[in-house]
Amino acid sequence: MPYRRCGKSGVLLPALSIGLWHNFGDYDNLANARMVLREAFDLGITHFDLANNYGPPYGSAEENFGRIMKADFSTHRDELFIASKAGYDMWPGPYGVGGSRKYLMSSLDQSLQRMNLDYVDLFYHHCPDPNTPIEETVAALDSIVRQGKALYVGISNYSADQTLAALRMFKELGTPCLIHQARYSMFDRWVEEGLIDVVGQHGVGMITFSPLAQGMLSHRYLNGIPQDSRAADSKSYLPAERVNEFLPKIKRLAEIAEERGQTLSQMALAWLLRDERVTSVLIGASSKEQLRENVVAVENLDFSEKELNTIQQILID
Ligand code: NDP
Repeated sequence: MPYRRCGKSGVLLPALSIGLWHNFGDYDNLANARMVLREAFDLGITHFDLANNYGPPYGSAEENFGRIMKADFSTHRDELFIASKAGYDMWPGPYGVGGSRKYLMSSLDQSLQRMNLDYVDLFYHHCPDPNTPIEETVAALDSIVRQGKALYVGISNYSADQTLAALRMFKELGTPCLIHQARYSMFDRWVEEGLIDVVGQHGVGMITFSPLAQGMLSHRYLNGIPQDSRAADSKSYLPAERVNEFLPKIKRLAEIAEERGQTLSQMALAWLLRDERVTSVLIGASSKEQLRENVVAVENLDFSEKELNTIQQILID
């Protein structure tokens, strides 16, 4: 596993990190979740990404992670870089959502309790909150670092302008923003419209989520929608109609991947990692076999001009 420097910080992150949004909740199989995380660590994936509301139900991914942590990783705590977040709705009432100091502080305390950790390595504001002054959110994150509850802080889903404003305030307070977490895949390229330049210019790392467009950029749906897939799960955010809409592009991309000697998922991950400003690509996995397939992506990150042009043509067609 190659490790990449996160912006201009002292932190190195694995080229591929693993997220616990899906597959780690109470409705999932804990034994499988445990196998996936153990496999990830054995493959050199040292960065685990969580959030207060991962599950379902909310909080259960952190609780299950706490169980796995205790059983398997407690002696490896210092080899791991563990992240959590708050921002989206978590509990009822006015203090369980948004970007207020009140919410961020209490949510992190709850997350630490669920995971049975003294601190997280990284804590994010999960999404911008138009109703809270950005000064309040940034100052709360600064306090969290000073209290030792998180070693670093980051932001997620902030636009380029919102990011610039936050970075200025972090700098004034003396708590650098380590990283920005944003959705980025061949099928969703909004970060290319300014955000990636902003983080690159300011020495902030970038970690990209849903790099396989939730599994669409793999062989998962080439022959229909499997029963055990995310698109077949009515609780997920991947409607089957979306898969069907993208299927012609998925098939054409799979052919290019084959010509490169890669699977489609490997090519989709390599395509993101070819930009050095992308510190890490944050994948999900419902089995250890998926992980094993995906980590091979790092063996070929080079694309010819012709391949890039053909991919571009498929994406804009
Ligand atoms: P991906 O795009 O990598 O999708 C992962 C899913 O794709 C897997 O669960 C699996 O789905 C399928 N898959 C993965 N590898 C393969 C393979 N080799 N062959 C076939 N299918 C495969 O990422 P996610 O959408 O899961 O997001 C990753 C992480 O990003 C999250 O866990 C979370 O930590 C973070 N995230 C952050 C957000 C934010 O707002 N900051 C929002 C969303 C995610 P299946 O179940 O069908 O097998």
